[in-house]
This record gives sequence, C-alpha cells and structure tokens, in this order.
Amino acid sequence: MPALFDSVRTKLTLWYVGVLALVLLVFSAGVYTLTARKLNARLDAGLRTTVEGTARLFIHEKEEDSTDEHAAASAFRKYYYPRQAVAVFDQAGRLVKEQPLGEIHATLPASPAALDRAGLQFFQLSEEHSGADDGLRVAVQRLPSGPTGAVFLVVGQSASEVVDELELLGGILAAAAPLALLLIAAGGWFLARRALAPVVAMSERARQISGENLAERLPVANPRDELGQLAATFNEMLARLQTAFERQREFMADASHELRTPLSVMHTAAQVILEKPQRNEDEYREALRLIDGHTARLARIVADMFTLARADAGRRPLHPTDFYLDELVGETVQAARLLAARKNIRVEWAEPGETRFRGDEDLLRQLLLNLLDNAIKFTPADGAIRVYLSRQTAACEIAVTDSGAGIATEIQPRIFERFFRVDKARARAENGAGSGAGLGLSIARWIAEAHAGSLELRRSDQQGSTFAVRLPIPLSS
Ligand code: ADP
Repeated sequence: MPALFDSVRTKLTLWYVGVLALVLLVFSAGVYTLTARKLNARLDAGLRTTVEGTARLFIHEKEEDSTDEHAAASAFRKYYYPRQAVAVFDQAGRLVKEQPLGEIHATLPASPAALDRAGLQFFQLSEEHSGADDGLRVAVQRLPSGPTGAVFLVVGQSASEVVDELELLGGILAAAAPLALLLIAAGGWFLARRALAPVVAMSERARQISGENLAERLPVANPRDELGQLAATFNEMLARLQTAFERQREFMADASHELRTPLSVMHTAAQVILEKPQRNEDEYREALRLIDGHTARLARIVADMFTLARADAGRRPLHPTDFYLDELVGETVQAARLLAARKNIRVEWAEPGETRFRGDEDLLRQLLLNLLDNAIKFTPADGAIRVYLSRQTAACEIAVTDSGAGIATEIQPRIFERFFRVDKARARAENGAGSGAGLGLSIARWIAEAHAGSLELRRSDQQGSTFAVRLPIPLSS
C-alpha cells in the first residue's frame, strides 16, 4: 500500500474535491451577485414608482396654485408609503415637508447644486447619514415649482430587506458548500477506488509472476478501457517473454542432448581401449579416429551454438567489405566439390558476370557452405547439385538445387528451427560423426536476415530441393 499522500487514489480525490470546490465557489459567487443585483433593482423600481406617483400628485397640486409645502403635504397624504420615508426640499436644500418612517428620514443626499439636473437619481446613504440600520437607498427627482423655481422630491427606503435576504442566501450557500464538498470527497474516494481496483488486482497478480509461472496472465477487467489495454499490453509482453523463455529452455535441453552423445561415444571408445593393457596400433588408430571424428563434430556444434548465441545477444556485428559475390560462390563451390566427390555428386555452377557486392564475406561464405553441405548430405550418390547466382536490380539471388529425396511437406516449416533434424537417430546413424546438429539452417537464415535479406525453401519434392537466398544490394555497392 502506498503512503496516503503518494497514493493515486488520494491525489485523484483531492483533485476532484479541489476542482469542484472551485466550481462551487464560482457558482455561489455568481448566484450571490445576481441575486444582489436583482434585489437592488427591485428596490430601485419601488422607489421609482413612488417618486413618479408622488411627483404626479405634487404637480397636480401645484397646478391648483398651492404652496410647495401644501402641495407636498397633500401629495404625501394621498400616496401610500408603507416602507418608505419621503421629503421635499427647496432649491436651497431646506426641508419643505417630510413624512419620516419611524426613525428613518429621507435626507438630501448631496448639495442642491450637485442634484440640480433632470431625471431620477439614486444614492446609497450609509447608516450614520441616514438613521436606517443597513443604510438607506434614496431616489431624488427635481420637480418644477412655479414658473422659475424647483424643488427636490426625495424618497428613501432602508436597504435592510435586501441585506437580510442576501445574508440568508449567504448563510445557505456557506452551509451547503462544505456539505456538498464532503459528499463529493466521499463519492470521489469511492469512485477512485472503483476505477483503480483493476490496477490493484494487476499489481497483485504481477507480483506473483516469475520465471516459473510465466504462463500466468494479468486480469483484464474491461478490454476496451485504458487499464484493460494496459493489462492486455502487459499480457502480450508476458507471452513474448514466455516464448523466449521456453525457446531458451528447449535450446538448453537440445544442446546438452546433442553434446552428450559424442561425449559418451568418445568416453566408451577410450574405455574399451584402456580395458586391455596391450592393444595393437590399428586398434589405437581406430579409436583415435573415432574420437577425432566426434571431437570435430563437437567443435562444430559448439562453434554453431556460439555463433547463434552471439547473434541472439546482438554481439556479432557484420564486418562488411566490398567483394565479388561470383568469386565467393565460385570458391565455395570449389570447396564443396571436394566433399561431393566422395559421393560422386556433380556440383554445377555456371559462372555469371562480375557481381560486386558489399557484405560480411565470412558469414556469407558460411551461409553458402551450410546450404551446400546439406545438399551434399541429403543427395544420394551420383546425384547432382546446381548453384545459380543472378543479379537483379535491387537484389542478388543465390539458389542451391539438389537432386535429393526432398523434405516432407509437413516438416518443411520446421527445418529452420534450432536443433531440428528430420529423424534425429537416423540422421546420426547415417552420417556418423560428420552430421550436423540441426543448427545449419538457423545460422544460414540469420546470416541472410542480418544482410536484410531472406532464406527460404523454394521448392522440395521427390526430384530434390531448392533453397534460395535473396540479398538486397546495399546502396553503397
Ligand atoms: P544440420 O546441421 O543437421 O544439417 P540444418 O539446420 O542444416 O541441420 O537442417 C535441418 C534439417 O533440414 C536437416 O536435418 C534435414 O532434415 C533438413 N534438410 C536441410 N537441407 C536439406 C536438403 N537439401 N534436402 C533434404 N533435407 C534437408
């Protein structure tokens, strides 16, 4: 279990809560501001209605030629002011007439000069200037009075209603937000646990997988989501590792098996010779010949294994040089003819024109030798082998055709596997110390592929087999 603050689950929950807290804050601020604006607008609208109604009555009274004070008193009487204080001031700012509301007086919010303009004006008066608890909202309207004069009609209403409602709203939001955050945190914690459950399951299973149980796989909860894909990717990797491991094990088993046989033959030969104190020279010679043959076979198997091991480890880099491929094939064919002569097999080789090539000469020689070696081994006496080299625009192709008995269709795909030999016992018995260990074609194919080319069995039937090597021509040659 990771420490609390290192755990993805805690981090996810904290992020979740943090982001939602921000959203809640912005949302609450928005609701609060909008409500405040709406409430203030409603207060102003009430003041406006009162000002308009009172003004109409005042002007009407003035048309009757009454004094400002009289007209104001009459207007105040006729209009209904349940929550507002009202007053009329003359041009010099002196109170003409007022109707307070309890402690609240509608006062002139500024000097008469500053207020001397048409249209309704709103002011916010603080508590100490108005006597109202939460301050006073005041609307001022200049009204004509007589031919030249003017008066100021002032209507005021306490802001306490707005303030109270906003306080209530603020209280609700302040109480609800932490509660919501608490719920969100619990929900987030739970969701994170659910979302991460497959990871926990995967890590528990992965901890149990080792070289001994590579066949185990990680659980895939939902193959379509990201975690499922992660598990599937891991499983593919495990499958590859398993194959590699198994191949390695088989290789070890096959290798020790291959090495054991010649060693035990040599051991037996030596023991038989040593059993009797005296042997004649022929017997010694025969035993040594046997031991020499098997030593050669052992040396070859070990050399082949070494080549493959280095190739696998990527530690057999190519040493490319420029050379003539036709010469290389010609020389190898020449060497093979010596071997083939023992079985009276003809090796035909039509000299093509000069074929320049760039590659690892030693490796390519080994490739060709392996193919020719097989061709000779699997062709009966008096048979024929043909070697072709052709140069195309982008690649050279070498084909080796023998007149052997061919390879059964069902085992053709397996001949390039390491240590694979058709009927191991028979192969060894027939070819004795000279037979291979089933590594020749694996090495040949690796060499072709190391040159970005390929080696394939092109044809194989009762008339014989054709192996074809395709080698792309490097740009520099
Ligand atoms: P080895 O070193 O034993 O020859 P290879 O890897 O070269 O092993 O070949 C694997 C097997 O493929 C051989 O044992 C043989 O059965 C088969 N094979 C290879 N070349 C030929 C061929 N030209 N004709 C028939 N069988 C062949």
